Amino acid sequence: MKIILLGAPGCGKGTQAARIVQETKLPHISTGDIFRDNIARKTELGLKVKSVIDGGDLCPDELTIAIVKDRIKEDDCKNGYLLDGFPRNLVQAKALDESDAPDIVIQLFVPFEQLERRLAGRRLCSKCRSSFNTADIGERTDCPKCGGELYIRGDDNVDSVRERLAVYEQQTAPLIDYYGKQGKLVSIDADKTREEVFESVLKVIK
Ligand code: ADP
Ligand code: ZN
Repeated sequence: MKIILLGAPGCGKGTQAARIVQETKLPHISTGDIFRDNIARKTELGLKVKSVIDGGDLCPDELTIAIVKDRIKEDDCKNGYLLDGFPRNLVQAKALDESDAPDIVIQLFVPFEQLERRLAGRRLCSKCRSSFNTADIGERTDCPKCGGELYIRGDDNVDSVRERLAVYEQQTAPLIDYYGKQGKLVSIDADKTREEVFESVLKVIK
């Protein structure tokens, strides 16, 4: 099964992706994770995209499309994939349709006002990778689950968050219509607990 997870920054794609992967064993392809991994390792690619990403804008299409196409050619994708964070605009969606069109596109919908709050208050654990929000854990700097050190993502500052949400509205939201017309879109109300959202997701993929 080829699945795309679609939704604004902060809608919970990463959280749901991790659970879908546990359930389906599909390879999780997150372009954001790929870029961040390259930034952390200071690769040529990482150095190229760091400032764009920290500013909240999209990386160049040509580069991003090439990365995803190469990744999908790998052996573990022969039974499908779970794409998270790609495609993010029509150019990317059309490129994917030419080579590895998805079977289903799951849109996670969260009201706009919630997103800003979720992103600006996001704290990530450097050890167990869990994600928290200051609304729940306050300003503590140690992970409530494992004690690891919490950090703030480079693009989770107020200015970049605004830019990311604007980019989503302008460039990514049109994909809802694009996949809707292809009959591939399923929209899920993601303004609920992680567990409730996952239950809805499971119904779709089963
Ligand atoms: P978010 O949490 O905002 O959904 P991601 O972790 O998916 O973000 O991606 C973080 C950043 O990586 C994006 O803001 C963008 O700069 C870059 N990026 C990720 N995927 C793509 C893509 N498909 N095309 C262009 N840039 C991308
Ligand atoms: Zn932790």
